Amino acid sequence: MVGGPEAVVLDAPAKVNLRLAILAREESGYHSLESLFCAISLGDEVTVRRADSGLALEVVGAAETGPPERNLAVLAARRFYAELGQEPALHIRLVKRVPVAAGLGGGSSDAAATLRALNQVHGEPFGRAGLLQMAVELGSDVPFFLCGSPLALGWGRGERLLALPPLPERAVLVAHPGVAMPTPEAFAAIAKRRGPNPPPRAFGFDAAELSSWGAVARLARNDFGEVVAERIPVLRDALATMRAGGAEVALLAGSGGSVFGVFASEGARDAARERVEALGMACWVARTLAALPAPRVDPAPDTA
Ligand code: ATP
Repeated sequence: MVGGPEAVVLDAPAKVNLRLAILAREESGYHSLESLFCAISLGDEVTVRRADSGLALEVVGAAETGPPERNLAVLAARRFYAELGQEPALHIRLVKRVPVAAGLGGGSSDAAATLRALNQVHGEPFGRAGLLQMAVELGSDVPFFLCGSPLALGWGRGERLLALPPLPERAVLVAHPGVAMPTPEAFAAIAKRRGPNPPPRAFGFDAAELSSWGAVARLARNDFGEVVAERIPVLRDALATMRAGGAEVALLAGSGGSVFGVFASEGARDAARERVEALGMACWVARTLAALPAPRVDPAPDTA
């Protein structure tokens, strides 16, 4: 085995979508999405450590991430070892902080972090293109976390990506209503409401529309917003409160059920937080990232 460190730790940031547009169905039958992804500082932490044999998962934190064999970090590791042509011999430790099934891409980010960390542990056998191939099979949000930038436009099922220069850091408020919104349900609600009118096939951008917060605010939208707010009405109040509090962008995250606001100052964000918490929502403060986190070699593998 090519030498790499015994253990690698990697922060796995959540994402928000500054734009999420549903385009026409592709021939495969899947809806194509157009998404402007932005990574934020709220995140999980993934540690991968060589072991004698097998694949063990340890999850730290209260979140309900489902059975280990269906955990996206485990699925990512299995995919990686299959590609490597080896049996897994690994311990994964996942510190879970990102709310689950909230549209924040936590599981996808854990999968991407596992691929990146494993690649380092094994002496970088795969380049970015190789990791992206594995990522796209794991889920449509996974490739974004491997694209090299905290800001990217993606199309299709996340397999077509354009990494963009990051925007200046902004304060972020994430709010969760305490109700999960599974992605298939959000799609079903969209299909029911849309009726015979097909969604558009194309949008066009100018690079300048993606190069400042003011410009991004003008194209910000989330096509899941209305149907999800119909099911979870408090989301409307939370978004209105964030906008009234000065949020430059305030939208549903992914297909819900959390919402987020992007603020020019921490003061404005913190003031909005108090008012959103008063609506009965759980809140997290974060900032947009200027760079994706770098893997770190675990300095004390024997004492962790
Ligand atoms: P999606 O839009 O793909 O549903 P999401 O960002 O809304 O993603 P996640 O937090 O990624 O939500 O969780 C989605 C589902 O994936 C949950 O039902 C959860 O049980 C399962 N899951 C598998 N692995 C993980 C993981 N490592 N972290 C969180 N959830 C996971």
